[in-house]
Amino acid sequence: MTEFELIARFFDRPLASGGAVARGIGDDCAVLDFGGPTQLAVTTDMLIAGRHFLADADPRDIGHKALAVNLSDLAAAGAQPRCFFLALALPDANETWLAAFSEGLFALADAQGCALAGGDTTRAPTIAGTSGALTISITAVGEVPREQALTRGGARPRDDIWISGELGDAALALLAHAGSVQPEGPTRQDVRARLDRPTPRIELGVALRGLASACIDVSDGLVGDLGHILQRSKVGARLRWAAVPRSAALRAQASEVAMRCALAGGDDYELAFTAPQRQREAIEAAARSARTLVTRVGAITEGRDLVVLDEANKPMDMPFKAYDHFGSYDPTP
Ligand code: ADP
Ligand code: MG
Repeated sequence: MTEFELIARFFDRPLASGGAVARGIGDDCAVLDFGGPTQLAVTTDMLIAGRHFLADADPRDIGHKALAVNLSDLAAAGAQPRCFFLALALPDANETWLAAFSEGLFALADAQGCALAGGDTTRAPTIAGTSGALTISITAVGEVPREQALTRGGARPRDDIWISGELGDAALALLAHAGSVQPEGPTRQDVRARLDRPTPRIELGVALRGLASACIDVSDGLVGDLGHILQRSKVGARLRWAAVPRSAALRAQASEVAMRCALAGGDDYELAFTAPQRQREAIEAAARSARTLVTRVGAITEGRDLVVLDEANKPMDMPFKAYDHFGSYDPTP
């Protein structure tokens, strides 16, 4: 059973009509409607030591990333962050660690005007002399004008497919950590920073309201996450590998490594979105106002398949899968 089959089978139930949940399971955020001019976008994401961050990560970076991955889901909904809740299971009360963790957390929270509104703190259990893994769960709440939340469901045939920033560096950092590739010189720190300190694309998400037809944040690899847009929108896509934005560090790698990192690596936290072709100039302007690079990488098609074209514009065999917590593919070192 995959992660998504598990959710569909045991947890996804029809919403009661007339309730406050305007959109439930299936998007980056739930959308709550209490009848006012704005709606609330709410998301929750959990990070576990050894699975979501490397054991040697700086606690400042862990604090940043725990909030950043949640703000990235708000960005994918086009929501403005308002507040968050923090639940912690800690092996011990290490003051040095907590000072650095909270510093990293609040640096990002303050920069985004997102206040910590509550949470829960427990000690992780010790089983057979081994302490349970440090676990951080954040629930973030954002605000979006009524009916303007971006979803995974609105992509239409002939829409452009766009990507923010560059893909694949976080996965490259994991491979470098495992010793299977060697990014040289200062680029090694750059790609590691992309893994440890992702930038949630909040300003871009907000600027895409009314322009993008569908949006998702790329947390589990482009092929899988774009696949969620295709599934929810009931469309297909043609993606041009040559157009997929990737860093100089990734371009320096063998193309098989670069493809695996940029198409199937996780942890990029860039936005993948679709928009009608007539919005091209408006999207370029929105991206400039958000000071974020955006690149057109393909088009939505009729049908349901995702076709990736290689450098010679030939359909590629796709040996890549998205990250799935219960599947067989596991890129963690
Ligand atoms: P993301 O990567 O943006 O966090 P996912 O694609 O992993 O989202 O999750 C798909 C959807 O399933 C989301 O709407 C998420 O809220 C929902 N979901 C995940 N786990 C559960 C669960 N245990 N119970 C209910 N909904 C869940
Ligand atoms: Mg997401």
